[in-house]
Amino acid sequence: MAKIDCQVTNCSHNKTGVCYANCVDIAGSSARRDLDTCCGSFLNKLHYATLTDNVLSAGSCDCLKCTVETCTYNQNRLCTLETIQVAGDHAEYHTQTACVSFRPQDR
Ligand code: SF4
Ligand code: SF4
Repeated sequence: MAKIDCQVTNCSHNKTGVCYANCVDIAGSSARRDLDTCCGSFLNKLHYATLTDNVLSAGSCDCLKCTVETCTYNQNRLCTLETIQVAGDHAEYHTQTACVSFRPQDR
């Protein structure tokens, strides 16, 4: 199963809803809801070529770093989920994307 299921189909790293970046950085250090997070690795296809050759491993992206330490699934800036969902179809900027698998820690 792909590690990143991504609806941002206009990202250069996206091929049929799967992310093929070498490594993805999810950002949003003090996020309280999913919309406060974003994919910092987003590249708009309007400005970048198709970049779906993951040169670090054979298949789709399996390197996921995340600075959202307010998320239940974050451990030492890595995500412990097997798969995450990223949303933001037709995003123009990386801030219009979001990790919708975000779950706030219980306070
Ligand atoms: S928006 Fe992020 S997760 Fe989605 S394909 Fe692009 S780099 Fe990968
Ligand atoms: S689920 Fe949480 S820890 Fe995993 S990438 Fe998304 S925001 Fe980061």
